[in-house]
Amino acid sequence: MVRTRTRKSGSTGRFGPRYGATIRKRIRAIEKTAKADHRCPRCRKYTLRKESLGIWKCRKCGHAFAGGAWQPITEGGKRSSRITKQLAEQAQES
Ligand SMILES: [Zn+2]
Repeated sequence: MVRTRTRKSGSTGRFGPRYGATIRKRIRAIEKTAKADHRCPRCRKYTLRKESLGIWKCRKCGHAFAGGAWQPITEGGKRSSRITKQLAEQAQES
């Protein structure tokens, strides 16, 4: 192991020995997801980046939208948009 300032703990090195290894491991996995390139829903290119917490912006077409805090599309978000669609369809039928 090379003794660098950030050590082997990657992006969670800033936490030092605090919060416990398991929690740091979990945060590291989440932050990796957040920092990776995601697909833009408009131009379909993998140029979507996290702008700030919950804000996602495409570097290619400039498309910005509010998504999940750590992922552009969350399971909860998908579910809520499906319910919205269902309610809209029901409203049209009646
Ligand atoms: Zn785009």
